[in-house]
Amino acid sequence: MARKKCLVCRKIFEPDKWHPYQKVCFNNECRGTQRILSLQKWRIKNPDYFKQRTDNLDKMQEWRKANPNYYIEYRRAHPELRDKTQKYVREFRKRKREASKQKQNLVDKY
Ligand SMILES: [Zn+2]
Repeated sequence: MARKKCLVCRKIFEPDKWHPYQKVCFNNECRGTQRILSLQKWRIKNPDYFKQRTDNLDKMQEWRKANPNYYIEYRRAHPELRDKTQKYVREFRKRKREASKQKQNLVDKY
């Protein structure tokens, strides 16, 4: 196995058999540094990744501002959706109540 020089601490190390292309030694600090470096490289390669997401968010918020009645109208047009949600919420609360009751039982027992 060829020996390599760690990119971070410059020490010679022997790469893992399963990771022959690894560029840093097994030192935790070097591995952490390598992770940050590769993340930075990835961000330089994908400069718009986070920007695009916030752009979309902005657009959505703008759209909501421009169509403030959309959700109200939507709910009015689909009354069955509200029933579904209410049913779901009721069941969720019931389950939660039962779970806490069971917990209380356990507490009382022990
Ligand atoms: Zn190192």
